[in-house]
Amino acid sequence: MNIPEPDTTRPPCPFEKRFPSQLVRDDVFFMSLAYNQAIDAWRRDEVPIGAVIEIGGEVFAAAHNTVESAKDPTAHAEILAITQAAGKLGAWRLEGATVYVTKEPCPMCSGAMLMSRVKRVCFAVPDPKMGCLGGATNLNELPRVNHHVELTGGGVLENECREMLQAFFRLKRKEPDI
Ligand code: ZN
Repeated sequence: MNIPEPDTTRPPCPFEKRFPSQLVRDDVFFMSLAYNQAIDAWRRDEVPIGAVIEIGGEVFAAAHNTVESAKDPTAHAEILAITQAAGKLGAWRLEGATVYVTKEPCPMCSGAMLMSRVKRVCFAVPDPKMGCLGGATNLNELPRVNHHVELTGGGVLENECREMLQAFFRLKRKEPDI
């Protein structure tokens, strides 16, 4: 059996995956799965942001940011998860869906949440720079739009997700976004 050589060119992700009980399917449960996606992103040297979509207590999609590897500026976790969930549902309206994402959605992703008619968005870390569900601005409050999402902004694994993002940006010696 061939064991691949470990990649020693960069330090490994210092964070461990969470193993929440399958019996309690609350916000922390689904955000834990999004957190695990963020770890997968880090392990691929992507900015660690993960998203999970829940419908009726089941996971319909799980994705992480792949902007660098896909060389695609639209390859945000939320967009990939929305596309996955729509494919699985066979419908573009994600009725009854809750999107869990480790950071507040950007303008593109906040727009996609409205366009896909998701029921609810739960994000971990508010983003005062680019967040468009209350951080920098709030697309959910467009006065002439009929569809609004229910919002849980911050508070669910917020510290854990922020710590991971800040550690990643420290490693890259970049200004943290949040
Ligand atoms: Zn985005």
